[in-house]
Amino acid sequence: MHHKKENIDIEEKVFSFKIFRFDKRKDQGPYFECFNVKAKKGMTVLEALLKIQEDQDPSLVFRYSCRGAVCGSCAMIINGHPNLACRIQLANLPSPEVLIEPLPNFEIIKDLIVDMEPFWKAYRMVEPWLMPGEREKQGEHLVTEKNRAQIDQFVNCILCACCYGACPVVSRDEDYLGPAALAKLFRFIRDSRDKRNWEDTFKRLDNEHGAWGCDTVFRCVDACPKQVRPTDGIEALRRRMVLRPFIRQAAHEAKSESK
Ligand code: SF4
Repeated sequence: MHHKKENIDIEEKVFSFKIFRFDKRKDQGPYFECFNVKAKKGMTVLEALLKIQEDQDPSLVFRYSCRGAVCGSCAMIINGHPNLACRIQLANLPSPEVLIEPLPNFEIIKDLIVDMEPFWKAYRMVEPWLMPGEREKQGEHLVTEKNRAQIDQFVNCILCACCYGACPVVSRDEDYLGPAALAKLFRFIRDSRDKRNWEDTFKRLDNEHGAWGCDTVFRCVDACPKQVRPTDGIEALRRRMVLRPFIRQAAHEAKSESK
């Protein structure tokens, strides 16, 4: 019964959206514009933005696609916190005044649309695909349940870039790869089917723009809408980098003993 009352209330409420506006082709600088939206049962922030676009200002732009928190396209700052607009229902917001801004750490193209190229460039640099060995190429790529559980949270990353936008290191070092790319690299390195040459990979990332750049302040963990903990992946990469001479030595000794 309590539920029903909440829904009646939300349908009666008018939400005021204060939205960041900027068109780099014609505006001198950014500004905020306010729009009122009458809430409907189950309405999300994304649906409210679509309503504003449809009824009040077709020039307002933002990205979206799946509307189900799977594609990661509608990442933006909602009331000061990175999130997916399709995932937040108006009924769950603390106040009918809603502040909407684009993701930080990116160049703004227009309104809530940012230039994602630095994020994708970092992602490409970690070669985010499975590199099987000769044995794995022969048949099915099997993985144990235990190993799958170890990489599970990193597989769940939808590349929304909320973490990249929240990262204080990215904000001061444009060459830092960022949490999502590094966590994705760990996802493949930890996968028992992946036989990439760690030496090559680590050589490129064993520096302050790679695994050692992270401040370990967990902003990415707070920002992630999919409960991924990128810092855990970065910490695990660091451990592997530090331990790799010992692992190599141990493998060498085991080989010599077996001769
Ligand atoms: Fe988005 Fe989380 Fe992946 Fe970062 S780690 S890109 S916040 S899903």
